[in-house]
Amino acid sequence: MTLILPDWLITAADKPPQAGWGIRISGDVVNRVGSHAELRAAFPDDDVVEASGSILLPGFVNAHVHLYGTLAHGIPVDDAPSDFWSFLEDYWWPKVEDALDVEMITAATDYVCAEMLGSGITSFYDILEAPNAIPDALLAQKEIVERRGMRGLLSFEATQRAGERIARQGLAENATLIDSCEPGGLVGGLMCWHTTFTCSDAFITEAFGLATDRGVLSHAHVNEGIHEGLWCAETNGHRTVEHYDKLGVAGPSFLASQCVQLSERERKLLVERDVKITHMPLANCEVGGGIAPIPELIDAGATVGLGSDGYINDFFAVMRGAFLIHKARLQDPGTMPADRVLHMATLGGAAALGLERVGALEPGWAADLQLVDASLPTPLTTHNLLEQLILWRDHHHVTDVMVAGTWRVRGGEVLNTDMARLRSRTSEQAKRLWNGS
Ligand SMILES: [Zn+2]
Repeated sequence: MTLILPDWLITAADKPPQAGWGIRISGDVVNRVGSHAELRAAFPDDDVVEASGSILLPGFVNAHVHLYGTLAHGIPVDDAPSDFWSFLEDYWWPKVEDALDVEMITAATDYVCAEMLGSGITSFYDILEAPNAIPDALLAQKEIVERRGMRGLLSFEATQRAGERIARQGLAENATLIDSCEPGGLVGGLMCWHTTFTCSDAFITEAFGLATDRGVLSHAHVNEGIHEGLWCAETNGHRTVEHYDKLGVAGPSFLASQCVQLSERERKLLVERDVKITHMPLANCEVGGGIAPIPELIDAGATVGLGSDGYINDFFAVMRGAFLIHKARLQDPGTMPADRVLHMATLGGAAALGLERVGALEPGWAADLQLVDASLPTPLTTHNLLEQLILWRDHHHVTDVMVAGTWRVRGGEVLNTDMARLRSRTSEQAKRLWNGS
């Protein structure tokens, strides 16, 4: 048994931070929460991690990432078309997604898992888009995530755009991964397809059925920009979320990512049907998709998690994005307060992904946690602690990270990891991708 005794404890995003409190870990869960004095008196024989100068908080849940995405950071796009459809059809699909192989994917997976751990992320959901890397790309990723000891949900984004054979393989890739994961284990799978404009109704319905049979969530990117909603309205006579509703997919076991451009009707449907949502504020800016109406959706009762989208994976930066862009959009400095942002980054993400007892440090909940250096130039108080954390901390202030009761980062170092070697291996694979070899 171990006591962790920081200066400040954040048990959950919606509870006030406690000065001079700590937690007791037993196995892979939190066993007790209390003041330092209380815990020391009750458990005098426990090991003690003296964490003075630190803030202890739940590990982050990155609810939407593309691990392979790091290979495309900085990729030259000068000769890529700027129109949405041509960009996908003539550039992104052939030159990036279709060119990915298992060697590239595993290098990026290992590097980004280490990078995420170092930034306080203990759980994540990954979407792999690489039609020519299956079968077995997901199993190769699974092996790495298990070795890293992270809580990871993996999926392959099945699509019919690359032909029927690959479409079928995509569904099988997800089913095989899901079936290979032990219930209650750290690694699991989701069923996933791309969008309404690359998958037929029959294909989506079949994928959803495979997920329902296995008791897992289904995932799709929804209305990342203006295009899908318009395409869907033109093709089907109604917009994307309405279409998913007609197909019987829009419900509590559907995870809809992005949800940037929504009609009033779509917003209402997402909430009424209890569809789970993920929000990627920085990536939405990158692609010029717009700003998702997240404060409105949360006010209406939606479950929303936060994701990096594989773009900027430092979760402090992602949280800052979420904290700031809605204030600018709504011209209201009171919208999206710090506790709401931290909620999306922890409990909201866990709830969106169906991870039980993850995202808070309460007795019986997962011992997924991080220690963050608390040496800021202004005093920390119960009232400002979350803002101080979100606005003025970064990944390099994360000193220690535990997943399911096991330390994965100590003293700012990701354990058993040569980051320089991982980085150069990833860089080699990025060069292969960029050169088309
Ligand atoms: Zn995405």
